[in-house]
Amino acid sequence: MDNKIYGEVSLTCPVCSAHFTTLLPAVPLIPSARRSDLKPLFEDNIDHFASLIQTCPVCMFAAWPCSFGHHSEAVDSLIERCTSRPGDRPLPVISSVENLTVRKLGSLHLNLLRLPGAASLSETGRRCLMAARCHDAAEEVSEARDADYFLRAYWAVSGRGNPFEENTFLVLAMERFQKLAADNMLQERERTRFLYLAGELARRHGDFVSAVDALSVLDEREFDLEAPPDDPEEIFLCEQASRMLSLAAVQSAVDAKVWDFSEALLSEAAEWLEQKAAGPEDDLDADEGSDEGEERRHDAGNAGSSALN
Ligand SMILES: [Zn+2]
Repeated sequence: MDNKIYGEVSLTCPVCSAHFTTLLPAVPLIPSARRSDLKPLFEDNIDHFASLIQTCPVCMFAAWPCSFGHHSEAVDSLIERCTSRPGDRPLPVISSVENLTVRKLGSLHLNLLRLPGAASLSETGRRCLMAARCHDAAEEVSEARDADYFLRAYWAVSGRGNPFEENTFLVLAMERFQKLAADNMLQERERTRFLYLAGELARRHGDFVSAVDALSVLDEREFDLEAPPDDPEEIFLCEQASRMLSLAAVQSAVDAKVWDFSEALLSEAAEWLEQKAAGPEDDLDADEGSDEGEERRHDAGNAGSSALN
């Protein structure tokens, strides 16, 4: 990693009290855009956000730096910028490690290593998986939190040359968001986000039938133009769903870039609402959503993708 961007910091494990040093961002890093699955994108194409998860080398406790008591302006601002926009959710922080012991962490880690396919996972993938397990062991299990860990794990490993791992986490995240989206008792705001991610991850996976099903629900949502929702997230996600639906309809799994939330995006969303009110468009433009990268299907490594459930 670039020495100028990352600096050595020492952390203390809240479970076993071991001290260790690690590299964390030392200068403010700002994502310049987002991918259509809401992954923050940085100009140097490195997922700096994913590099934040830390693992204690002694007991294998894994969590975001704040769970190790670490706060710095650079890290805090990176977290803030990557978790506070429409469609994002706050970082899951382990508030108490009372339920965690070195012995328990050891057995969690051993179980993880024994999973079929675990040997093919990168260090980053294993860290994300271990962090999700630690969180579930420390606090009441939350399916929504779990889904976000897997989504972030997928972001962290995507584009790093390991299609098996990328597909594994894509499927794990997709299945979780599909299950969450099927819950009709949810508040509309949460359901909108789950539906969007369920549909968009299915599209990236090449499961276009599921993608169209989920994204259509959002595309067809009616808004009262006289009293649009105060929270821009719903409009943003419905607008994006409409764009991604055009791609899913022509069976395209391309990466699509979304410019970060801004005034321009707000006015784009307002325009989209007006167009919607004016009536359905005749043709679907497959190129909408400024394609980035080559079309990719996630065929590689389909087998075994459910092994880490
Ligand atoms: Zn430890």
